[in-house]
Amino acid sequence: MRIGMISEHASPLAALGGQDAGGQNVYVASLARALAARGHEVAVYTRRDDPYLPDVVEMVPGVTVVHVPAGPARVLPKDEMLRWMPDFGRWLAETWLLGAAGRPDVLHANFWMSGVAALTANQLVPGRRIPLVQTFHALGSVKRRFQGARDTSPARRIAVERMLAETADLVLATCSDEVAELHRAGAARCHVRVVPCGVDVERFAPEGSTHTPVPSSPGVLNLVCVGRLVPRKGIDTVVDALPRVPGARLVVVGGPEASGLHHDPEARRLLDRARRHGVADRVELTGAVGQDRLPGLLRRADVVVATPWYEPFGIVPLEAMAVGRPLVGSAVGGLLDTVKDGETGILVPPRDPGALAAALRRLAGDEELRARMGRAARRRAERHYGWSRVAEQVEEAYRSVAAHDRVPALEAL
Ligand code: UDP
Repeated sequence: MRIGMISEHASPLAALGGQDAGGQNVYVASLARALAARGHEVAVYTRRDDPYLPDVVEMVPGVTVVHVPAGPARVLPKDEMLRWMPDFGRWLAETWLLGAAGRPDVLHANFWMSGVAALTANQLVPGRRIPLVQTFHALGSVKRRFQGARDTSPARRIAVERMLAETADLVLATCSDEVAELHRAGAARCHVRVVPCGVDVERFAPEGSTHTPVPSSPGVLNLVCVGRLVPRKGIDTVVDALPRVPGARLVVVGGPEASGLHHDPEARRLLDRARRHGVADRVELTGAVGQDRLPGLLRRADVVVATPWYEPFGIVPLEAMAVGRPLVGSAVGGLLDTVKDGETGILVPPRDPGALAAALRRLAGDEELRARMGRAARRRAERHYGWSRVAEQVEEAYRSVAAHDRVPALEAL
């Protein structure tokens, strides 16, 4: 198949860890690679955010990244991009009409704004429209609930998401909680299928050639958190739990590069908090770390911790599982599917330092339990979440829509 993957703000080539670069970038890059390995041809369309980017980059054989001119060629916060999506869509339609490559057999829009670009393009391409698969990655209704007035998403986001859910030939939800959320948000006529995100089980392996696990010193519990440095990742909950877990040391990976951490508001907030609790000597922030170095850092953990307020999927928990480490995480969103509570890790209520500390103390005192959970986690990651397994299910989903011929309701925008 010729697959057109649209990922308006999240380029598969971007550096990870900053404000708007995380799971969606990893998803698009890894899925595109895995689909190409299955013999498909994938073009990833992402917004040009730098005038010096080449028009097209071959990421690996079978995957090209196309930089679409839509709006100013500089980095924009994603919440300011909606107004450029019609241009993005028009550019796609023109390219498919005039370009040598021709039109894709299926479109896969990632994030709601890519869906807007896909609908615009489909409206302008003559003849039979291109089947559309939509992955939201995050839903506006959830963000609004948790972020309240701090949510800077365009006001129309929730309505447009509902319309997209009902218009796309298929919504690929990444976890069961998202399906419930779509229905709660009123997307009654939505065709939905759950296919999770994946993890690179070769790269994120329990043993590595470059980093061998550090044997824990007695009485020390090494904790690692990985993620964008934004409040909703709940890293403050981990800092708040530290005084109640003697011997625990926390390494926080993510945010800007290490040299920029002292300007980062969330980094400063976390360090201030650690100082107030008297645990600053037990907290280290590394800044952003590339995927190549992450497995080594995760393997240094006795326990990986992910306590977001909410989490549309959460690839980091899968990465922890794949390197064979137990995960203590919030009982929210995708973690409810990926983490087997009591078997591969422990789930705790979000924003509850007391419950988190209790779970960590339990693991601190039981090395055998940690090892058992780590082994179970690795088995689960291999069995269900390798990218080749995920790509097989996504390909099946693409094939299921290839015969559809529903008319998109662009006027609902
Ligand atoms: N990540 C990374 N380096 C960093 C911080 C994050 O490579 O410094 C990666 C992380 O390994 C994971 C992704 O970014 O693959 C984050 O995805 P997740 O779904 O956990 O969170 P999101 O960013 O989508 O909220």
